[in-house]
Amino acid sequence: MTTKITLQDSIRARARIAGRIRETPLVESPSLSSLSGRQVLLKLESRQITGSFKLRGATNAVLSLTDTQRAAGVVGVSTGNHGRGLAYAAAEAEVRCIICMSELVPQNKVDGIRSHGAEVRILGRSQDDAQQEVDRLVRDGMTMLPPFDHPDIIAGQGTVALEMLDQAPDLETVLVPLSGGGLISGVGMVLKAANPDIRVIGVSMERGAAMYECLQAGRPVQVAELPTLADSLGGGIGLDNAYTFEMTKAFVDEVVLVSEAEIAAAIRHAYFEEREVIEGSGSVGIAALLAGKIGNPGRCVSLVSGQNIAMDLHKRIIDGEDVDVEADIKGGADA
Ligand SMILES: *Cc1c(COP(=O)(O)O)cnc(C)c1O
Repeated sequence: MTTKITLQDSIRARARIAGRIRETPLVESPSLSSLSGRQVLLKLESRQITGSFKLRGATNAVLSLTDTQRAAGVVGVSTGNHGRGLAYAAAEAEVRCIICMSELVPQNKVDGIRSHGAEVRILGRSQDDAQQEVDRLVRDGMTMLPPFDHPDIIAGQGTVALEMLDQAPDLETVLVPLSGGGLISGVGMVLKAANPDIRVIGVSMERGAAMYECLQAGRPVQVAELPTLADSLGGGIGLDNAYTFEMTKAFVDEVVLVSEAEIAAAIRHAYFEEREVIEGSGSVGIAALLAGKIGNPGRCVSLVSGQNIAMDLHKRIIDGEDVDVEADIKGGADA
């Protein structure tokens, strides 16, 4: 039996993490508004501390630990935005944090995690070796906090929707970058509780859209991970998925897929039209709007989920270079 995650959980999470995360701006995009014919707003979680919304769930999860759990510390395996958020949240709460990773992880990612105060443990050449170390640390009493499939993480990500409802009470459509589904589960749950008529649309990349494939299959399935500009959206949802698959099914009206060229165009658009540096994963909602893939968006919010792109890659994209993801993204677009 899994616990049901409700609006009340996100309301409590919002109070718990207040003052520890940034309330991020919701800004109008004049260019996207004139393109769609209705107001389009950008929720800039790219301006969140650590550069992504992941800090919300991580902070909520760390602050929800029991005293015994706090004393023993937390452990994670993420080398991306969850790892950064968890490292920062734990350091702020003075909780020990170990992030385990394989030796194949590029140095810039290792440094990114370390800079937020976590201990980094580099083990073996595969994610499996890293996982074995995590299992050992958990047996010794540490708490593993996963990137999406966890009630406190989901409730924490839902706080971004509570903020949006305060900032734009009459919104009609919300575009949410979708990978493991922690973000869209929390956001969808909150929005549908507030107003079931709000359309919640997930956006993933065509290359390795795990949740999309699972929804098609009607159950969690293995999906091959491919290099993509939306690297924070890579990876599966877990065959033993406990929460996000069912919540995504319940709260998401539609999932839209975008191509690598559309993602690159959206990164360029954000830079030249909105004056924002955003990562590929954060750009997929804008990509879908620019590509005309959202029918009748109405008053629409596109959730810009993160900014952590390697700046040399960003420069090449805005210079208009045709980036070859197969050759260029191995090792990660995430700086
Ligand atoms: C993690 C992440 C996502 C996807 O979130 P899920 O909860 O895994 O669906 C989207 N954008 C960015 C920038 C992320 O770091």
